[in-house]
Amino acid sequence: MRETVIEIKGYPIKVYSFNTVVVGTGAAGLNAADRLAGYGQKDIAIVTEYVNAGTSRNTGSDKQTYYKLTLSGGEPDSVEELAQTLFDGQCVDGDHALCEAALSAQCFLRLVELGVPFPRNRFGEYIGYKTDHDPRRRATSAGPYTSKFMTECLERSVREKKIPIFDRLQVIKILTNGNRLRGILCLNLKDTREPEERYIAFNCRNLIYATGGPAGMYADSVYPFGHYGATGIAFEAGVRGKNLTEWQYGLASLKPRWNVSGTYMQALPKFISTDQDGNDPREFLFDFFPDKGVMLTNVFLKGYQWPFDVRKVRDGASIIDLLVYIETCLKGRRVFLDYRENPGNEAIDYSALSSEAREYLERAGATFGTPIERLAHMNAPAVSFYKDKGVDLYQEPLEIALCAQHNNGGLTIDQWWQTNVEGLFAVGEVSASHGVYRPGGSALNAGQVGSTRAAQYIAAHGIGEPLAVETFHAEVASSVSDALALGEAVLDETDNVEQIWIEAAKRMSRFGAAIRSLDGLLQAIAATKKELLDFNRKVKISSPQKLPKVYRLYDVLLCQYVYLNAMVDYIQKGGKSRGSALYTDPNGQLPYENLPDIFRFALDDGTRGDQVQEVSYVNGLAEFNWRKVREIPKEDDFFENVWRSFRENGNVY
Ligand SMILES: Cc1cc2nc3c(=O)[nH]c(=O)nc-3n(C[C@H](O)[C@H](O)[C@H](O)COP(=O)(O)OP(=O)(O)OC[C@H]3O[C@@H](n4cnc5c(N)ncnc54)[C@H](O)[C@@H]3O)c2cc1C
Repeated sequence: MRETVIEIKGYPIKVYSFNTVVVGTGAAGLNAADRLAGYGQKDIAIVTEYVNAGTSRNTGSDKQTYYKLTLSGGEPDSVEELAQTLFDGQCVDGDHALCEAALSAQCFLRLVELGVPFPRNRFGEYIGYKTDHDPRRRATSAGPYTSKFMTECLERSVREKKIPIFDRLQVIKILTNGNRLRGILCLNLKDTREPEERYIAFNCRNLIYATGGPAGMYADSVYPFGHYGATGIAFEAGVRGKNLTEWQYGLASLKPRWNVSGTYMQALPKFISTDQDGNDPREFLFDFFPDKGVMLTNVFLKGYQWPFDVRKVRDGASIIDLLVYIETCLKGRRVFLDYRENPGNEAIDYSALSSEAREYLERAGATFGTPIERLAHMNAPAVSFYKDKGVDLYQEPLEIALCAQHNNGGLTIDQWWQTNVEGLFAVGEVSASHGVYRPGGSALNAGQVGSTRAAQYIAAHGIGEPLAVETFHAEVASSVSDALALGEAVLDETDNVEQIWIEAAKRMSRFGAAIRSLDGLLQAIAATKKELLDFNRKVKISSPQKLPKVYRLYDVLLCQYVYLNAMVDYIQKGGKSRGSALYTDPNGQLPYENLPDIFRFALDDGTRGDQVQEVSYVNGLAEFNWRKVREIPKEDDFFENVWRSFRENGNVY
C-alpha cells in the first residue's frame, strides 16, 4: 500500500494505491478478499461503507437456503446435471452455470471448514432438502441466518490474514480510462463536514465490485435497511447490464423487513387494509373471493409459493400478491397481517379448505384457535423473531407489502466474472449470472463461486503495480472533478434529497416492480430522466453531512433509468409475462374477471429463454443488444490433457 495526496478542484484527496481493491463486505466481497490472499495475491484491501451492512449480514428467512451439489445419500447427481438445472432457469449463460456447478462443492466445504454450521449426519453426509426449481434435494441451511454466519466466518478469516478493511467509505465514482479500470473515488463517511477530509481515492489495477443488489431503487423492499447497492455508478462507468428485467418480488413485513413466507401464511392470518392513518380497516380479500374456503386455501399456499410467480396467478397463490398490490400501490392504502383474530372474526371451518391445506394443518395439530395460537404452536421462533424486533404479534398487526427481494440480473460478466471494463470484476448479487428462474439458495452459491473465480483470474493475470500516482492523477482528474462539482452544487439552505428519493422509490415500486405496463414505465422513465438532467439544480441539502444521500440518490436514479428502459425494451421486443413480472398486455387475458385491466397479461411461452438482453448506458441513453445465451461448454475431459495445461497455466485463461 502507498499513500499520497493529490489536489483536484482545490480539494486535497488522499490516494491509496493497491494492486486489488474489493468493494463490499457481504458474503461475496469477503470471500473475494479471502480467496485473493489464499491464492497469494499481495497488496490487496477491502473498502466498504459499513462493515456490518449489506444483505448477507442482515437478512435471512425461515430457513435461509444454500444450494449446492448433492453431498449425501444414494441419489445420483453430477456437475453436468447441476449445471443443466441452473441453465434451465432461462437466459443463463452456460459457462456461468457450469462454473457454479463445478465450484459448488469446493465453495460449500470451504464455508464448512471456516465454521458455518451446515448440518451433517453422524457419518458426515450433508443431507439436503428440495427447494423451489430443484429436481433433487440439493438445498441445505444453517438456519434463519445462514448468510450472516457466512459473513462472520469469512470476516474472521479475512482479519486473521490481516487484509486491511477501509470502513465507512462510500464509493461514489468508478474511475476508468477508456475501457480500463483505474480506481474508485469515495466519500469519507467518517467526516463529510471538512472538505479536506471529505474525499478519498483508490488507485488500483483490479477492482472486485461486490456491492450487492440495487435495493435503493425500491420503496417496497425486503432488503435490509441501510443496504442500497451501487449498480448505477457501474453503468455510468461503462459496465453493461444483463437480464435487468429479472427479479424476485414477494410479500414481506416492512418493520422489520422479513419475508412472511411458510408458517406466517399457513397460520391463516387475517389480511386487513387501512387508510394511511390506520383508519377504515377492511378485510379486502373478501371483496375478491366469494368463497372463504378458497380464500383461506390461497393464503395457506402463499406460504409455500413465496415469490410472486406470474404463472401462479390464475392457478396458484400469486393472486394474493396482486390483491395486496392493489391496496398499497393502486389505492394508496396500507396492508397488515393480523394474527389476533380469525379471518371474518369467526372460527375457521377447516373442512372448507383444500385437502392439501387441511391435511397439513391437521398433521401439524393446528386446526384450532386464532392465527397467533396456530403460529405459536407450529413455529414458536417465528413469533419470538418479531417480538425480539419489537413487534408483539399477540398485541398488534404487522404491516406488509409486495417487496423487491432479489435481482437475478445485474452487471454483465465473462466466465471469470470480469465485466466488459478491463480490470473490473463484479461478484455476488450485483453481477448477472441468473436468469428468469433459479433454485432457491443459488444466489449464495453464485456469490461464493463468482468471487473465487475472480480471485483465481486476478492471481494469474492481474499481478503488478497500479499506475504511478502522477499518471493516475492525470487520467482521473476530470471525472473526479465532476463528482466534486456535484457535491458543491447541492449545498443550499433547504433540504429535499430525502423527499425526492422517497418519491422516486415509490414510483419504481408502483411502475417498475412486479406489475409493469408500457404507459406506466414510460411515465416513470420521463420523470426519472428529468430528475437526472436537473440533478445539480434540483437536489438540495443544507449540510454536507447529507452528502452520502445525495450521491446515493444519484446512483439510484441512474440505476432506475437503466432498469426501467430495460423493461420497456423487453416489451417492445415482444416480451411477455414471466418470472416475477406481470406485463400488462391489452391483447392478453384477465386471470379473473373482477380484476382491474392492468392485470390483463399473456404468459411468455419460453421461446425467449435462450436470449439475453444486454444494455449499455451511453451519453445518457440506454442502448440494447440481444444475443443468444452461451451454451454449457463441453470440455476435453481426457485427464492427461487437462493435467498438462493445468501444469502450464493452471487452466486460468
Ligand atoms: C429477505 C431475503 C432472503 C434471502 N434468502 C436467500 C436464501 O435463502 N438463499 C439465497 O441464496 N439467497 C437469499 N437471498 C439473497 C442473498 O441473501 C443475497 O443475494 C446475498 O446475500 C448478496 O450478497 P452480496 O455479498 O452480493 O451483497 P451484500 O451482502 O448485500 O453486500 C454488499 C456490500 O457492499 C457494500 N456496499 C454497497 N454499496 C457500496 C458503496 N457505494 N460503497 C461501499 N460499499 C458499498 C455494503 O455495505 C455491503 O457490505 C435473500 C435475500 C433477502 C433480501
